[in-house]
Amino acid sequence: MKIGILGGGQLGRMLALEAHRLNLSPLVLDPKPDCAAAAVAKTLAADWGDPTALAELAGCDVVTYEFENVPATVASWLAERVAVRPGPEALRQTGDRLLEKQLLRSLGIPTARFRSVGSEAELRAAVAELGLPAVLKTRRLGYDGRGQRVLRTPQDLAGAWRQLGGSPLILEEFVDFDREASLLAVRAADGAVRFWAATENRHVDGILRISRAPAPEVAPASLERAKRWMKGLLVHLDYVGVAAVEFFVQGDEWIANEVACRVHNSGHWTLDGAATSQFENHLRAVAGLPLGSTRRTEPSVMVNLIGTRPAPGAVLETPGARLHDYGKSPAPGRKLGHVNLTAPTAVEAEHKLALLARRLRDPALERALHSPWLSPWEAEPERQAGRPAAAAEPARA
Ligand code: AMP
Repeated sequence: MKIGILGGGQLGRMLALEAHRLNLSPLVLDPKPDCAAAAVAKTLAADWGDPTALAELAGCDVVTYEFENVPATVASWLAERVAVRPGPEALRQTGDRLLEKQLLRSLGIPTARFRSVGSEAELRAAVAELGLPAVLKTRRLGYDGRGQRVLRTPQDLAGAWRQLGGSPLILEEFVDFDREASLLAVRAADGAVRFWAATENRHVDGILRISRAPAPEVAPASLERAKRWMKGLLVHLDYVGVAAVEFFVQGDEWIANEVACRVHNSGHWTLDGAATSQFENHLRAVAGLPLGSTRRTEPSVMVNLIGTRPAPGAVLETPGARLHDYGKSPAPGRKLGHVNLTAPTAVEAEHKLALLARRLRDPALERALHSPWLSPWEAEPERQAGRPAAAAEPARA
């Protein structure tokens, strides 16, 4: 069976690796010839709209994707010729933060209050309604904290508008969360839905650094409610494949922030800490194969390797550490790999995490471990000025 994958970043690479194990033939499309998946799968290095590449993908048995910003026209063109899972409608509604929040609200899922912003005057009006602080975001193509500005004082508005105002924007109220968590689920074509253990996520500067599964100290009733919401969302979208919903957690309240219609960074622990990984179950779902168990086998901690590649020995001498290196060249803020740590108890997993952190000597990891919950950019507001606005290249999670 041939599986077309739109996008050849690390998610495409990990999907392709799992596909080979199941003897499914992956065919990747990515504009970058040296993308992370190219080393492990046949890759068409072409623009998203390239007719020859798209015709080749249309010859696959099913097409899926690893990031949200595939042009809608490409997904629709393919969907007329080949099964595209999840469908283009899920992509359309979740690839735009405004449509995404409207969808969540329409399904009764709480989100931060938000306003659509199309001009500087609308920005002022939205700030007058929602108050400060607030977060101004591009509706499309933002990722890892890019394309976002925190507005703290009225003086911040003009600068933020200058930096982001070229694209359609959304203003969100600032959620003073206690912590962040995500739900990861897979839905099969027959409607069966399975959840993995909820994950607690720690971001620094808007980039995920550490995920812990299961998320500690989660009130069971809140978790069940959040799962019901997510299940409703997947049914509404007639979704097939893996999806993730990121939440802000305030006491027992869960507030949805983002939906990812694909495998997700906060689910990487499932490669080593669950009976079936998110990558394998995504492939099983889109290929119409039976789903595997999502049971957690051991408490897990996932650490992202960002910006610089540590010496592999520094990672591997940590007992039980599993290194997943994406083979990418280092660059500031770039996700180069991750380490999964599993142990029979959460306390032992934390102990391994402390050992690994000591070896890696990564200041951002130290902050993720030791600072109280930080909203992004709080520690370094001056970084905002130098931060690239909405990425020119498609978002990679
Ligand atoms: P996002 O790209 O929306 O996932 O945002 C990246 C990170 O920025 C989130 O994981 C939060 O840590 C933070 N963030 C985003 N939106 C808000 C908000 N409205 N209030 C507080 N923090 C936010």
